Amino acid sequence: MTHDPSVLAPTYTRAGERAVAPRYTIPDVEMDPTTAYQIVHDETMLDGNARLNLATFVATWMGDEADRLFAETYDKNMIDKDEYPRTAAIEENCWRILASLWNVPDVKNSIGTSTIGSSEACMLGGLAFKRRWQLARRAAGKSTEKPNLIMSSAVQVCWEKFCNYFEVEPRYVPVSDEHPALDGSQLEQYVDENTIGVVAIMGVTYTGKYEPVQEIAAALDALQEKTGLDIPIHVDGASGAMIAPFLQPEIEWDFRLPRVHSISTSGHKYGLVYPGVGWVVWRTLDALPDELIFRVSYLGGDMPTLALNFSRPGSQVLLQYYQFLRLGREGYTAIQQECQDVAKYLSKAISEMGAFDLWSDGSDIPVFAWRLKPGHTENWNLYHLSDRLRMKGWLVPAYPMPDDMSDLTVQRIVVRNGLSRDLADELLDDIRTETAWLDGLSSPMPTEGQQPGFHH
Ligand SMILES: *Cc1c(COP(=O)(O)O)cnc(C)c1O
Repeated sequence: MTHDPSVLAPTYTRAGERAVAPRYTIPDVEMDPTTAYQIVHDETMLDGNARLNLATFVATWMGDEADRLFAETYDKNMIDKDEYPRTAAIEENCWRILASLWNVPDVKNSIGTSTIGSSEACMLGGLAFKRRWQLARRAAGKSTEKPNLIMSSAVQVCWEKFCNYFEVEPRYVPVSDEHPALDGSQLEQYVDENTIGVVAIMGVTYTGKYEPVQEIAAALDALQEKTGLDIPIHVDGASGAMIAPFLQPEIEWDFRLPRVHSISTSGHKYGLVYPGVGWVVWRTLDALPDELIFRVSYLGGDMPTLALNFSRPGSQVLLQYYQFLRLGREGYTAIQQECQDVAKYLSKAISEMGAFDLWSDGSDIPVFAWRLKPGHTENWNLYHLSDRLRMKGWLVPAYPMPDDMSDLTVQRIVVRNGLSRDLADELLDDIRTETAWLDGLSSPMPTEGQQPGFHH
C-alpha cells in the first residue's frame, strides 16, 4: 500500500472508526476523541525524552502537588484581573518577592510584571529604556531618530529581536579570547548620546558564565564622569537571576548597583516552573515611563498592566508562587547547589578525559561548555560526538561560538533539577565510550550536512 504523507492514517480498528484524516487541512467530520487523543499522543512519542534533554534550560519536572495545582488552574487567564483577583494578587506577590531577592532598595516603589518568558520580559526592559531616552531627548529638543543598545555579541536571540522589532540599532561588543565576556573594557568605543542602555547577561547562554555587571557599571560610572552620559543597565538574568541570589549572594550584580534599572528572569528556567512564565522588575516607578502602563479594571479600582501579550496562562504564575512557598530560600539553595555540584562533577570528569578543554566549568550557573583540544584529531568533531550521544538518548548540542569566534565549536550541558548524580555517571560512561569509538577510527568521519544543535 502506498502512503500519502498528507494524510494521517491510524491503524485502529474500532467499529465505526475512520481510517484516515487530512494532515494539513481541517477534517470535514468529527473523530472519536479516544482516536484523536491516541494520534496526538503517539506522534509526540517521537519527541526526545525531556529528562535527557541537556540542551534546554527549561524546567521539565515539578512534582505531584504542582501537577495537581496546574490541572486545577489551567483555565485561568492572567489578564482577567477582575475575574481572578486572587491570581492577580499572587502575581504581584511573586514580583515583589523577586524584587526583594534582587535587593531592590524600596520594594514599595518598584514595579514588575509576569510575562510569558524572558524574551517578553527583555522586550519590556528594552522598551522602557527606549521610551525614557526618547522623553529625555525630546525634552532637550534633540533628535530621537537613532537609538542604539549595547550588548555582547553572545546575547540571546531575544535581544536581536528587540532591536529588529522596535527599531533600535544593536551595537554588539564582540567576544574574543582576550574578552570572553562583556566586561566594560571597550564600552567608551560604543556608547554615545543615542545609547538607550547596556544589557548585561547573568548566565551567557553559550557558556553559562556571568558577565561582571559590577565592572560594567563601574565603566559606565567612569564614562559618566567624563562625558555626562548617564547610561542605565538592564540585567538579562534569564537563568542567573534565579541562581546567584542563592549560590553567590556575595556577587553584586543586582539592584545593589544603582545603575541597574531593571532585571528579567525566566520563571521556567531556574525559577523551577513549567514553561511559560518570565518576570521583569524595575528598580523604581520612574524607571518605567508611565506611558507604557495601561490600566485595567480590578476590584472596582484599577490595576497597571504592562505586558506585550494579552491573554496568557495564569497557572504558571500560581506555580511560581507555589515554588516560592514550598521551597523557600533553603529549598532553592539546596536544589541549585545540587545542580551546581553535578555540573562541576561532570565538567571535571570531562576535562580529565584527555580529548577536551573546558570553556567553563559550571561554577557560575550550572551550565558548562567544552571544545575539542586543538590537535587532538582530524577524524571527528563535536557534532559527531553529539550524534553518537543522541543514539543513546542524550541531547547534548554542539554549536559555533558567536561572530569573531565562530571558528570555534563548543558543546554544552545544562544541568537542571532532575539530572541526578546517577544519571550523570551514565552520561559520563556514554561520553567515554563514544569518544573512544571516535578516537579508534582509522579514517575521517564525513562532515557533510552538519548542523549546529538548537541551544537556546
Ligand atoms: C533563555 C534565555 C532568554 C530567553 O528566555 P525565554 O524565557 O526562553 O524567552 C533570554 N536571555 C537569556 C540569557 C537566556 O538564557
